[in-house]
Amino acid sequence: MAEKAKLLIVEDETAIRVGLVDVFVFHGYEVDSVEHGEAGLHKALTGLYDLILLDVMLPGMNGFDICQRIREQDRQQPVIMLTAKTSDEDIVQGLTLGADDYIAKPFSVTQLVLRVQAVLRRAGIGEQQQREICLNNNRVVDTDNLNIMDSNTLFTRREMDVLQYLHRHCDRPVPREELLVKVWGYASDMEIETRTVDIHIAKLRRKIEIDPANPEVIVTVRGAGYRIFVKTE
Ligand code: CA
Repeated sequence: MAEKAKLLIVEDETAIRVGLVDVFVFHGYEVDSVEHGEAGLHKALTGLYDLILLDVMLPGMNGFDICQRIREQDRQQPVIMLTAKTSDEDIVQGLTLGADDYIAKPFSVTQLVLRVQAVLRRAGIGEQQQREICLNNNRVVDTDNLNIMDSNTLFTRREMDVLQYLHRHCDRPVPREELLVKVWGYASDMEIETRTVDIHIAKLRRKIEIDPANPEVIVTVRGAGYRIFVKTE
């Protein structure tokens, strides 16, 4: 079974927010929601979301500014803007700031669910969130049971989160700071202690590498971070 996709909904109108949470929970998503713009930005920057639904007119900070800030930190974060503003100019502004899609209120819930699924598919989320990750040393990680298949090796939830995050971005090295923000939930402007990441990587290597002193699965890329190597079909 695929892992549940996680959504963040930033919407100040209570009726719409509560309705959207119900709809997406019903469709099998894990949903987090917030009504205030700044709180939304904070969650967006520190949480791990597969997709963010972002209203434009919000108290504290508007959706365009939030989208721009999200993009400055993570170019790949899927975002759909939700808004009552329907002029072409707004749509262009939303898309220029990097939203993946734009839905005008009032919208049909069925339409919205389909658009969310489409954006997640384009982002490669959903089908590719495998339960099993086959590492390039042929060990297979079971992400549901937090273990290596056919072994007694168990992972902590945090170790698995790090492993899955690296796996989701396996086309590039992931900087330590990015892991601290996306997996640990540190704010990006906080004084960051990157040694925490190194300690967890060392623990992961002891569990997944054939020779932890010469890692071939989670490789250190000098000056760039950690990169995971997995088997691809
Ligand atoms: Ca609003």
